[in-house]
Amino acid sequence: MHELSITRSIVELCAERAGDRRVARVTLEIGRLSGVVADSLRFCYDLCTEGTPLEGSALEIIDIAGKGRCRDCAREVSLDGWPALCECGSANLEWSAGEELRIKEMELAENKNRDRPRFSGNQGQTTFFGK
Ligand SMILES: [Zn+2]
Repeated sequence: MHELSITRSIVELCAERAGDRRVARVTLEIGRLSGVVADSLRFCYDLCTEGTPLEGSALEIIDIAGKGRCRDCAREVSLDGWPALCECGSANLEWSAGEELRIKEMELAENKNRDRPRFSGNQGQTTFFGK
């Protein structure tokens, strides 16, 4: 899956930068022309962050619309996705926005000593009684 490898490299990059600190939030900018499906990325995020400093962090995705210019008729074009065509029918477009795929921000948890206790068990279920 395309999104899985993208998510993996994003998580690796952030984890590297975070070092031994925990990450509270990651903000991504994803252009509508980048070919990345934000929902798939969200889904992969939970898988990829498991066991990393990003585990449990929030993922924010900023959606960027496509903007550009037609090389044939010089018209300004604004597009939400593929297929990308100008009103004149040309696909010879030069994009100025919409192809972004980048990490905009990474917020670290303020106090790494205040990590919530971790419970063992399946699917986050907590056992309250006995051992
Ligand atoms: Zn055109």
